[in-house]
Amino acid sequence: MKERILVVEDEPTIATGLRDDLELEGFAVEVVDDGTAALSRILEEKFDLVLLDLMLPGMDGLTVCREARSKGRRTPIIILTAKGQEVDKVVGLELGADDYITKPFSRRELLARVKAVLRRGREDPGPGKVYGFADITVDTGRFEVTRRGEKIELTATEFKLLQVFLEHRGRVMSIDELLREVWGRDAILTDRVVYTHINHLRNKLEENPQEPRFLVGVRGVGYRFDG
Ligand code: CA
Repeated sequence: MKERILVVEDEPTIATGLRDDLELEGFAVEVVDDGTAALSRILEEKFDLVLLDLMLPGMDGLTVCREARSKGRRTPIIILTAKGQEVDKVVGLELGADDYITKPFSRRELLARVKAVLRRGREDPGPGKVYGFADITVDTGRFEVTRRGEKIELTATEFKLLQVFLEHRGRVMSIDELLREVWGRDAILTDRVVYTHINHLRNKLEENPQEPRFLVGVRGVGYRFDG
């Protein structure tokens, strides 16, 4: 079965280039050029990955991302930003995107990012392990986080990050270690990605995200999981 990628891009030449590059690599590609259509496709169908431009007719990419996540869709999303859209990139990650690529990008960079994100999504969680801290239960086999039985929705990347912390409870993890363990060696990322995902986890798991009890920052070193 080919992995399915939804490309959301209104610039015809970029859309065609993406389709060609990804199809050559063996992916099944669907292209839409409008944000509203993109959101309905993400809600209706199960894609393995979405490449999402931000400036779109109909609905902008950030809204698409937020809506998809708020409706519980965990499909990995890579946002496509233009140079100078620094702020959007950060907002996109805050809204639940897994990664970003800045235009113009090379075919090599595109494929490296796509493969890294897909690999994270299909990683075999191994024999399921169940972790508990405070009133939260994490079941890695079922890919499920619950608080007093209520499901907490995490994206694949957030889940992986939490899992890495749980495997190293009580030990300080450096930003580089986290990047390597969660995003992989070929990821071309900045520390910012780690900060935004940790904030995300704090918002979802901590009672008071401003004064985190579990995901504790250790100044100048990294983060430690104290659950
Ligand atoms: Ca555009």
